[in-house]
Amino acid sequence: MQLEKPPLADLQQAIRNVPDFPRPGIQFKDVTPVLADPRLFAGAVAWLMEPHAVGSIDAVAGIEARGFLFAAAVALQLGAGVVPVRKAGKLPWKTYEASYDLEYGSNTLAVHTDAVAPGARVLLIDDLLATGGTAQAAASLLGRLGARVVEVAFVVELAFLKGRDRLPEYPVRSLLTY
Ligand code: AMP
Repeated sequence: MQLEKPPLADLQQAIRNVPDFPRPGIQFKDVTPVLADPRLFAGAVAWLMEPHAVGSIDAVAGIEARGFLFAAAVALQLGAGVVPVRKAGKLPWKTYEASYDLEYGSNTLAVHTDAVAPGARVLLIDDLLATGGTAQAAASLLGRLGARVVEVAFVVELAFLKGRDRLPEYPVRSLLTY
């Protein structure tokens, strides 16, 4: 299915800024208005998949939870499988886990040990890049599977948090930058 790419400004306008969620001082970028609008959702998917030819990607990995929504749609368009990178304790089979620090405390992500074959070409997607800890942990898990992470793509990047600096080994692309 051929998807139309809307102007990126249309996507940017739809993303809702929610001050002080989930904690005081955080400007939460809410992508649900993009998901709820078929033109904008299809458009975000079209932009996310743009550099990748159909058949060039073996799997699209999405990070829990909003990353799943974009990753699944992109995977269907590219003829690729989907790999969920989940919070620890959610996946039923054998997993690899990677922990990373948050502002307060830490978080652990997990992936099934057989999620992709060694050498698989994987596109990693999340809705938003902030400090980069989440994406770095997810990419390291894919590396542990022997996958080749061909790109890490985001709908939104909070550039002032310099998350890209934590992903020096990978091409990083984001549709919208704040
Ligand atoms: P980080 O590990 O700091 O790059 O955080 C990225 C993860 O946290 C992504 O899965 C985002 O969905 C979520 N996140 C962090 N900051 C925000 C924000 N300001 N607005 C929306 N989501 C955020």
